[in-house]
Amino acid sequence: MQTDARFNRLAIIGVGLIGGSLARAVRQAGGCTEVIGCGRNISHLKKAVSLGVIDRFETDVAATVKDADMVVVAVPLGAMATVFKQVSLHLSPDASITDVGSAKSSVVRDARACLGERISSFVPGHPIAGTEKSGVEASFADLYKGHCVILTPLAETSPTALQRVITLWKFTGAEVVEMEPRHHDEVLAATSHLPHVLAYSLVDTLARSDQGEEIFRFAAGGFRDFTRIASSDPVMWRDVCLANRDAILEILAKFSGDLEQLVQAINKGDGDYILKVFSQAKQQRDLLLKKK
Ligand code: NAP
Repeated sequence: MQTDARFNRLAIIGVGLIGGSLARAVRQAGGCTEVIGCGRNISHLKKAVSLGVIDRFETDVAATVKDADMVVVAVPLGAMATVFKQVSLHLSPDASITDVGSAKSSVVRDARACLGERISSFVPGHPIAGTEKSGVEASFADLYKGHCVILTPLAETSPTALQRVITLWKFTGAEVVEMEPRHHDEVLAATSHLPHVLAYSLVDTLARSDQGEEIFRFAAGGFRDFTRIASSDPVMWRDVCLANRDAILEILAKFSGDLEQLVQAINKGDGDYILKVFSQAKQQRDLLLKKK
């Protein structure tokens, strides 16, 4: 823990993998007095209490944010606007609000439309950490340790809100970096959203092929490595594709063009081209792993 500023009541709206892991980490670091969770499903929320992730819960956003000094919105991107609208009506005067959504321009649009004057208390955020699992059972306190959290503060964001959200993430052991929302979306479209689209699409194509059953029977480590993320939550990733459409389409077009060149090379038996692409890719990936 690199900070001694504590929160009184931390409100987590959406106590799943990401919200639950944040709650666990902040509690473990002694970063708040109380965590109150909010969601739609009471059995999920009871589970969160029994796992020690939250102290108590509400199913009503108004009751959740009342008296909270930090509010984290950790629901799928498609639900952000509805939650922001409810939060804006009941947020305490000194409270700050942040989110964890995987795309930032759409969240900023929703926040500007729904938070009214309280936009100055809002700091958009995205932890660059996660797994293919969902729900509070999958949450763990060390999820963010050593990982980056990207904040995309707005012109309207108050310096106090920004500082408080930085403090929040420091309790988790994450490194906080700042970026423009649009730049965030372009970078994440390439490094996260494109791989998810490809993994889902590959598994679907193979599953629907005539030899699907046999293909999966003989699937080895490489197939498992490549397709692990196709086990991620389809609702969350549908929302990411809709929210970050332009950036995803741009990188998909570039990727399709490069793939088409590889198709041509395989078709023509152009081993030099294939070897060049594979060697470049291996070199880059080896370098990436060395840096970690
Ligand atoms: P998750 O495990 O499914 O948790 C989402 C939570 O939000 C659930 O506990 C659910 O609780 C609640 N929720 C779902 N739909 C809702 C709705 N329409 N209205 C209100 N609450 C709703 O998902 P997650 O992986 O934590 O993802 C949450 C956010 O984090 C998403 O915006 C995602 O883009 C972002 N994110 C995910 C990852 C990742 O790797 N998974 C990484 C970084 C950021 P109830 O079922 O009780 O309603």
